[in-house]
Amino acid sequence: MAKLVSLLISARQQRDIAIAIGFLVFALLLVASTFLAATEARRSMRAQSRFALEQYAQLRINLDDTFGAITTQVTAAPCTRVFQSQLRRVAFLPDGFSEFLYVPNGRVECSLSVISMATPVALGDPDIAPSEKSPSEIWIDRGLGFAGLQGLVGSIVKRGDFAIVVPPQKPAFPASSWFEREVVLNGTDGRYWHRAGEVEVYDHYKIAQGPRAPWLDTTLRALVCDEYERYCVASEASAVGLFQTWKVYVFTAITLLAIISAWLAGRVKSLIVKRWSFEARFRRHLDAESVICVYQPIIDVGTGAVVGCEILARWRDVDDSIVYPDRFIPLVEKHGLTAKFTRLVVQRAFAELSKTAPCDRKLKLTFNIFPRDLKSEILLDIFKVFKPLAGRFDIVVELVESDQIDIEDAQRQIETLRKAGIGTYIDDFGTGYSNIQNLAGLTVAGVKLDRAFAMAPDGSLMAKMLLHAIEMIHESGRAIVIEGVETAERLESLRQLVPPVDFAQGYFISRPLDVERFAVFVAGGVPIPGRLQLAA
Ligand code: C2E
Ligand code: CA
Ligand code: CA
Repeated sequence: MAKLVSLLISARQQRDIAIAIGFLVFALLLVASTFLAATEARRSMRAQSRFALEQYAQLRINLDDTFGAITTQVTAAPCTRVFQSQLRRVAFLPDGFSEFLYVPNGRVECSLSVISMATPVALGDPDIAPSEKSPSEIWIDRGLGFAGLQGLVGSIVKRGDFAIVVPPQKPAFPASSWFEREVVLNGTDGRYWHRAGEVEVYDHYKIAQGPRAPWLDTTLRALVCDEYERYCVASEASAVGLFQTWKVYVFTAITLLAIISAWLAGRVKSLIVKRWSFEARFRRHLDAESVICVYQPIIDVGTGAVVGCEILARWRDVDDSIVYPDRFIPLVEKHGLTAKFTRLVVQRAFAELSKTAPCDRKLKLTFNIFPRDLKSEILLDIFKVFKPLAGRFDIVVELVESDQIDIEDAQRQIETLRKAGIGTYIDDFGTGYSNIQNLAGLTVAGVKLDRAFAMAPDGSLMAKMLLHAIEMIHESGRAIVIEGVETAERLESLRQLVPPVDFAQGYFISRPLDVERFAVFVAGGVPIPGRLQLAA
């Protein structure tokens, strides 16, 4: 789960996820629309095939009617003049048939055109034998010279003693350039005859259905047969042919799909960002569990004893990574969560320190507060948890000067806090808005000099200013803390200063520690690798 969450919260991954989703959506839409287009194309092929088959259905109806007419109307003795004139009358029916044969015992004895054959002509075995569904015997595409119709070809359909000559049919296919079709006539023994359209379309269809079908067939195929499975229309449309015919539509559709996918990917990304951006996560999960405190020891410069610590906040992200204040403090301010946040820090520190901090000395706990929260009623309420432990802990709030501070009001608040036992220090003195006048106007208990002083090289302007600042603050009777002490030399040189700096804090003394390690550090028990071993 944490792994999945960490995927969602990285900005790069968010973008990659959105791109992947975009491609996936595009692919799915492409597959779905190809499927829909293929279904629609096949539907259209089938509809046109059915239309072509109607002509053959009509042919069958006409055959039935004409055989009916022959049975009822041709009653004279076969192969006589009367017989012939009766046949002629049937031939005048508007059914497309104009030649009839009299075929007793499979031999043509006379026809409409030939009143009597000199020698009866045997038709031989039919190409299509009668079946349950169709009582006719059929000879396909026979030369009709024997019946006096030199040069003509037709199929002969025989029922009983009569046969009808069926001329070749021209199916009325609607014009279409995007698929090919073939009409075939199926025999009863698996043979079939090409009747119209493009030769081999039916063959291709059968191959595609059989065991030798290619594994990837991009050709669309359809087969529609009449109810007797006799006439069938096979049709096929190659992907390339389809693409060429519908080029403009295909490009338009692909462009549309790409636009839809990109839009969706954008929506997904903004949803992910909205839910999983750092800002969203921080706001959603800012609670007692996610706020972490670390404690950076502060020592008395003269004796080296640990006098207290500065409480620094961290935030545990949803993937369990630890976030530093530079990322979340601006959000706390932006969303008006300052008092809530300070309360969470104070409660956490109370829970940890009251349980774990050593009881053999009083510790000064320094909390950072937001300038806008410099209101005694808010702060007294937040810090009241420490009241019962006033014998173990002194509370100090550190305040960065800012343009949000109204000096007169600040002075009143600081005074109220002081009376309630909470000291106020000016933080980061020497930077930003801090100035000497403000300092003079505020009865703060101490001043924390900015890291820049501690880092200033000996003899530099900053180092000289440090001396002046120390002198001035010392004279006003306020405690001086210097932070950002990173080397033994710097600590040593601070020790030599006159007037002296009271307290010091910095990586050389100790990095911010979790509460257990802080407790051990206070007890002087642990040599922290590479760090000064301090006298307790
Ligand atoms: P800050 O109040 O000036 O806190 C001191 C910062 O300097 C801390 O950074 C600390 O880890 C770092 N530091 C300590 N010793 C040294 C050193 O020797 N060298 C260097 N280069 N740095 C050192 P951190 O913990 O990242 O805090 C940054 C800032 O976030 C703090 O600056 C403070 O303004 C703010 N902050 C932290 N916790 C809280 C909080 O609970 N409430 C409020 N309002 N602000 C907080
Ligand atoms: Ca501070
Ligand atoms: Ca500071």
